[in-house]
Amino acid sequence: MYKTPFLDLPALSSAAGEVTLPGSKSISNRVLLLAALCQGTTVVRDLLDSDDTRVMLQALRQLGCGVLVEGTSVTVSGLGGRLAHSQAIEFFMGNAGTVMRPLTAALAVLGGDFILKGVPRMHERPIGDLVDALRALGCRIDYLGQEGYPPLRIGTPQIRIDAPIPVRGDVSSQFLTALLMALPLAAGQQDITIEVVGELISKPYIDITLNLLQRFGIEVRREAWSRFTIAAGCRYQSPGEIHVEADASSASYFIALGALSAGPGMRVLGVGADSIQGDIRFVEAAQAMGAEVESGPNWLHIRRGAWPLRGLTLNGNHIPDAAMTLAIMALYADAPTTLTDIGSWRVKETDRIAAMATECRKLGATVEEGPDWIRVHPLPTGQWRRASIHTYDDHRVAMCFSLAALNPDGVMVRIEDPACVAKTFPDYFETLFEVARPLDVPVICIDGPTASGKGTLASRVAAALGYHYLDSGALYRVTAHAAVQAGLALDAANEKNIAELARQLPVRFEGDRIWLADLDVTDEIRSEAGGMRASLVSALPAVREALVDLQHSFARLPGLVADGRDMGTVIFPASPLKVYLTASAETRAQRRHAQVLQRGQAADYSALLADLQARDARDIQRSAAPLRAAADALDLDNTGLSIDDSVNQLLAWWEERLQR
Ligand code: C5P
Repeated sequence: MYKTPFLDLPALSSAAGEVTLPGSKSISNRVLLLAALCQGTTVVRDLLDSDDTRVMLQALRQLGCGVLVEGTSVTVSGLGGRLAHSQAIEFFMGNAGTVMRPLTAALAVLGGDFILKGVPRMHERPIGDLVDALRALGCRIDYLGQEGYPPLRIGTPQIRIDAPIPVRGDVSSQFLTALLMALPLAAGQQDITIEVVGELISKPYIDITLNLLQRFGIEVRREAWSRFTIAAGCRYQSPGEIHVEADASSASYFIALGALSAGPGMRVLGVGADSIQGDIRFVEAAQAMGAEVESGPNWLHIRRGAWPLRGLTLNGNHIPDAAMTLAIMALYADAPTTLTDIGSWRVKETDRIAAMATECRKLGATVEEGPDWIRVHPLPTGQWRRASIHTYDDHRVAMCFSLAALNPDGVMVRIEDPACVAKTFPDYFETLFEVARPLDVPVICIDGPTASGKGTLASRVAAALGYHYLDSGALYRVTAHAAVQAGLALDAANEKNIAELARQLPVRFEGDRIWLADLDVTDEIRSEAGGMRASLVSALPAVREALVDLQHSFARLPGLVADGRDMGTVIFPASPLKVYLTASAETRAQRRHAQVLQRGQAADYSALLADLQARDARDIQRSAAPLRAAADALDLDNTGLSIDDSVNQLLAWWEERLQR
């Protein structure tokens, strides 16, 4: 997951390949709550690991449920309709609507002393209609803040079911879902009927609820979309084991990628046309816009069909979450796209109509909006603008706008707060980068002499930007180490053999550890002697040549910061930002001295200074890729600078380059 303040997505030409998607949020959280309410133990497979499911798991633990997490499987020991203890409990719901609503209903029916609260945005998301329905049943619920909104206090109810229970269906279908999951706990001698008041929105989510209730032993009789009856005497029963489908809403981004990309297309695994999730019908909407989609029981294959895409008018009520993806696809269409009946967008993680309109406009698009509709006009070639997309702590805004990176103008897209995707798809960007084909991967080069602080600076800049990091010196160090292990003297006589070793170097970087095959060689190669040996092998032209492809392979999305001696001159000559980092020989020797002492080793300052000068001399004088600044490099002498100063200088230069 990217935890950087922003993530710059380089312009993409297309995407192709196969992705396996994480489990559905809606199914995961429903299944967890049902498993907690029922009798018996349930093993939940392929559970989504995200912010929202963690909120639910934490709540279940607080209730006294047994919860055992093993990878993507979770074993839940059900409460059997009774709480494990009677202490007061305070729950923190974050911004997880799929926990707040159903848990409120279940706890209100079970009874106890509970407080439910969340982040400020959660306290702006309405819950009054659910509370009214529960109060009509005899539940005791008080508002602790604003009337109609969380936080709530829940007490012990006196349940009386003498008439159908009315609930509004036109604000959030989660109110009905919450009642459907809670009321089986109150099932006694008579049927319980819920009557929906107003037009029910997001019906497919109710289908998911009914389908899962059935898996847990509860039959619900549905009359049209307005009356739901839970039969007298029914009881929750664990199905033993249950699999969670991949998230169909998450699939929408990869379906869109397939529709937008010339080439072999995208294959999505984990969810297919027979999915119980309503958002699978996004496939039809994508087809209507031009996508070619094939599907099977657990897979989808999407190719670009009509191009540009076809603009359309669509009622988005049945696919509220996935329809946001259509709003971005609309930028690539031949005519405006109008999404209607999407008023629920206004009460989601953020006001999604406002968010989509504002951010699309930043890209240069014309957008119109109304209380429950949005119209996005195509954005012609030549009119796309580089934009920093605000994401409103809304995972779907972040994921949707990543699709803008396919723009025909080759402009980069900045996504602010990329970690907000953790709500449903923590590895979204990593997954995207596996299949995305960039026009170009940005590489920042930092070259300079030994102990100038390149490694620290490069890795700090890489971390700030979410970029990969290449410590090219380590490759020479590892090569020298491998050569010594193979009994080769580090001289020109062995040049061919050492180059052969370098070409097939089984080196791996894991965090700050470096592995050669299955040996951790970090400490050996980081020693002073290791540096000296590296300096010897690096003077051999055939060895340098042998390491070129390996170094190029580090240039992967979203970008790379590379440090060494010839990054800017030889390995990445087209890099848009090259920095030549220096410090006086004395300062460098002092830093090295302090480092060695810190490692608890003996150090002789004058010997270090002499070594360093010898290495500089060899690097500068060698015939192959001698150490020198690239003609277009910016000089940075950090003798008097702190590490933060240097990092900030580099980031400022990088911003300047991006503005060009
Ligand atoms: O940067 P580091 O001190 O780890 O590099 C070890 C040695 O590898 C350097 O002294 C230099 O001789 C060599 N090197 C190189 N080209 C690079 C990186 C390192 O010649 N790009």
